[in-house]
Amino acid sequence: MTSLADLPLRPDLMGRSPYGAPQLHVPVALNVNENAHAVPEEVAVDIVQRIAVALTTVNRYPDREFTELRQALAAYLGHGLDADRIWAANGSNEVIQHVLQAFGGPGRSALGFPPTYSMHANIALSTATRWVTAKRDPEFRITAETAVAAIEREQPDVLFFCTPNNPTGTPVPLQTIEAAYDAAPGIVFVDEAYAEFMPAGAPSALTLLPGRERLIVSRTMSKAFAFAGARVGYLAADPAVVDALRLVRLPYHLSALTQAAALGALAHAPVMLRMVRDLCEQRDRMAEGLTGLGFHVWQSWGNFLLFDGVAQPSTTWQGLLDRGVLIRDLDIPGSLRVSAGTSEETDAFLAALAQVGRPVPSTASVGSPA
Ligand code: PMP
Repeated sequence: MTSLADLPLRPDLMGRSPYGAPQLHVPVALNVNENAHAVPEEVAVDIVQRIAVALTTVNRYPDREFTELRQALAAYLGHGLDADRIWAANGSNEVIQHVLQAFGGPGRSALGFPPTYSMHANIALSTATRWVTAKRDPEFRITAETAVAAIEREQPDVLFFCTPNNPTGTPVPLQTIEAAYDAAPGIVFVDEAYAEFMPAGAPSALTLLPGRERLIVSRTMSKAFAFAGARVGYLAADPAVVDALRLVRLPYHLSALTQAAALGALAHAPVMLRMVRDLCEQRDRMAEGLTGLGFHVWQSWGNFLLFDGVAQPSTTWQGLLDRGVLIRDLDIPGSLRVSAGTSEETDAFLAALAQVGRPVPSTASVGSPA
């Protein structure tokens, strides 16, 4: 059997593992921060009709500029944005890839603050961008001083913030982003994949865009819009940044069917987003249940929770899986992450955990286990 070692693989890819969140068929899947609710039927019907129309011209390449979709995304985001300031791709993972292709690459570096979304590092590596990290403050926070010190030390070409941060749920204050932008020599990328789950009135980094041509704010339709399977992510930035991304995208990267589906979903944004508050309520109920079981729960602004005090995360993870509940073990000592689910899924998770999980004294007060 041929193995990777037999192939003329790029040396920097040798020994690396692919992104590997297990895809298992289980009754209760709370492992990849999806929206627990399906697309509402009335929206699904409209989307199918739009896809049917798009299919009648699918012998032609799609609109390479996905202009209508960029207009719809700008209108959804508000903040005075227009289509020139929007970019989209097949999931925000591809958006991140475009950004690193354009602004990272050989001889360049990207800085992140672990524990954070693993694909920032993975895509940095696959675009041959050197990945460097800096420590967070206690309780997973990042103060302006901490960010600026890391930037001055590393001089990154691309700086990643994730707010609310996956997997901790922690927000990054706008003051930190502003100070980091002033100190950073390169792009400041703010991943707001979970923005819609933030408390009402919490400001988005979108408010910082005017006058900051190196600032990028990314979003996704995978979470709040219940659209993970459709693969639509997007960003808002200066039009010059969007021009830079045109240099690296593959022609026609967003299929006509994807564009039609996304436009359908955006046309029904209020219905699509109807379950967001419900998911936040379930997340908070889950947090109460976890606390009641003796675990420490980090306050989260996303549709997920990180909890610690888990004696052996891999054993607890397996015990839950044996009971049909799949959550996420991210190799953070003593911790596991669980996505918000439906009310029934929350019940099932808490019941299963009550059977398998024995909390140990919390390490939470020690500070960031980054
Ligand atoms: N950013 C963050 C912080 C995420 O957690 C995720 C998905 N888990 C993504 C981006 C990627 O989402 P997608 O590619 O589905 O848009």
